[in-house]
Amino acid sequence: METMSKFRFPSCPVVVALCLGCFALGCTGGDSLRDIQASGELRVVSRNGPTTYYQDRNGAAGFEYELASLLATDLGVRLNMQPAFSLDAIFRQLQRNEADLAAAGLTLTESRASAYPHATSYSRLSPQIIYVAGTSRPRTISDLVGRTILVLGGSSHAISLRALKNDQFEQLQWQEVDGADTMELLERVDSGEADLAIVDSSEFAVMQGLYARLRVAFELGEEQEVVWFLSPGKDNARLLQHIDEFFVRLNKDGTMERIRDKHFGHTASVTPVGSHTFTRNMRDLLPTYRDLIQQVATEFTLDWRLLAAIAYQESHWNPRAASPTGVRGMMMLTLPTAREMGIEDRLDPMQSLRGGARYLKNMKRRLPEDIAEPDLTWFALAAYNIGLGHLEDARVITQLRGGNPHLWVDVMDHLPLLQKRTHYANTRHGYARGAESVTYVQNIRHYYSILRWQEIPRNHSLSPIQTGKLLPAIIRNSGFLAL
Ligand code: GLU
Repeated sequence: METMSKFRFPSCPVVVALCLGCFALGCTGGDSLRDIQASGELRVVSRNGPTTYYQDRNGAAGFEYELASLLATDLGVRLNMQPAFSLDAIFRQLQRNEADLAAAGLTLTESRASAYPHATSYSRLSPQIIYVAGTSRPRTISDLVGRTILVLGGSSHAISLRALKNDQFEQLQWQEVDGADTMELLERVDSGEADLAIVDSSEFAVMQGLYARLRVAFELGEEQEVVWFLSPGKDNARLLQHIDEFFVRLNKDGTMERIRDKHFGHTASVTPVGSHTFTRNMRDLLPTYRDLIQQVATEFTLDWRLLAAIAYQESHWNPRAASPTGVRGMMMLTLPTAREMGIEDRLDPMQSLRGGARYLKNMKRRLPEDIAEPDLTWFALAAYNIGLGHLEDARVITQLRGGNPHLWVDVMDHLPLLQKRTHYANTRHGYARGAESVTYVQNIRHYYSILRWQEIPRNHSLSPIQTGKLLPAIIRNSGFLAL
């Protein structure tokens, strides 16, 4: 396969290699770093899609967007982010020097590396074959023969398939979809239009919640490197060195981990069955309570979709829910908490939501002031579930073990230690079911991210690929779009 799975740039002879690269690629222009600084603008081309670059209600967003804007700040220039609507368009823009770099979840392949300079890899992923649960699952490459397979046009996956066809699977056929968003591929497989799709593991993990029937059949080849490619016409040695150092810094100070967690961290714990039930309930149950949730969220200046996600995790939006431990109602409040929050009837959904919202706001207020959003919200949720004292213990353990107690990604790794004697014996509040609170927070994040997809059809300014068309039918039909 052509992709360069184990590719690593040697750190020392980088500059020599880059100059040779520049020579080999026939660059004639000036120094790209100097040009960027002189123009006061970093031109970055990206794919418009949920894992790379899109518009949410607060403006531009996405993993690649966030990294690119940090680089622009680092260079002291303005970010000019340009959406591209196909992979070919991205490389065309680089070729014509209409962009300085491409930040678009692009896999390093031999052919790309020979045509475009690239920085060190900032991520790794595996290409995954996706199928619909209940249809026959392919297990090897020869099982792909005779199926309709979708890949993005010009993608690394198309390159891999071509190599396999030339190699020994002559019968292999596939369709290259002209677009930039892998969500469209998943949509077509989900609707039965095609049998299989090949998408990157990072992208499938984020979108799986929206397509509860889709599963990974197997991984096509080894892990691959993801890189930023540069416009080839210039001397890029200094720019590449700057970017490499920038990534080293981001990795060292925890920024990279924080951004990665923000964009991909909510994908880990919900099972496909859980996602399926959620999307069904979102369609059938949520419309009944949506106005109520929105009203209470407005009262407490909370994002209503966050409140809805918590209520779902607590009770599956059942106002009469009860557990043997005595918690009750839409937000599953204990009697003492309900009293403290001034709630008389826990089974009244409005009262329960108000109690939960007030409790969450309390938690947020009582957490250390220097914890930034969105981590503050994740911590408040953990405290809501396990109590502030235990959370504080987990933050202390995190710090003692070299982690950052201000980052949810770090504390979440240490919360389960509250279940181990060697650790909880030395804490102030003792044993707690830390692993459960991690699941609790991660589930809510997952539900919250699904609910947030309702914003995507408003992506008009960015996207000629009408994103509304690409939204999973389940969300299209859920009534959200009428909001
Ligand atoms: N990583 C892919 C590429 O570089 C694009 C994303 C995908 O097709 O899943 O071509």
